[in-house]
Amino acid sequence: MADNRTSIQRHLNMAAIRSVSTKPELKLRHALWHSGFRYRVNDKRLPGKPDIVLPKYRTTIFVHGCFWHGHNGCKYASIPKTNTDFWTEKITRNRQRDQDVWRQLEAKGWSVIIVWECELKKDQLQDTIDKVSLTIRNNGKVLQQTRDTRNKARLQYHAERLQQRQREQQLNIELRQKFPH
Ligand SMILES: [Zn+2]
Repeated sequence: MADNRTSIQRHLNMAAIRSVSTKPELKLRHALWHSGFRYRVNDKRLPGKPDIVLPKYRTTIFVHGCFWHGHNGCKYASIPKTNTDFWTEKITRNRQRDQDVWRQLEAKGWSVIIVWECELKKDQLQDTIDKVSLTIRNNGKVLQQTRDTRNKARLQYHAERLQQRQREQQLNIELRQKFPH
């Protein structure tokens, strides 16, 4: 038992150290920066303190460790054979928290991109960066379309208001001409 607890503690300590800024996350950040994306890091003002925040695209990115966040079907996410219940419960709780955060961010109008650490390994890195860049740009386009639609609606509203006022003025003039006191 003492042995088990030590190994759990060791695992948890490793996680604490890793949670600062992982190497795979840095690789992704640098690649995005070189592609011209500008971002904030670990923004505390947003739910879940996203790893990367791109305000211009209203997009957040989380780089998730496959084990800690329970990457479905991933070989790096297998639950240890010892203390299985402990790990299963812990990972399940992490996944629930991730989903809560995701929902909160979407409710505030932010898009969420999840990047798994296994997707940042050498052989997949470029693919992942391409995919993420594309998603960010698409989010930007959708955002712009929404803004355009809203602007068009606002312009149309003002144009209609103006017409209405002109019609009323015209009517007043006509009334005054017909009934000058
Ligand atoms: Zn994975």
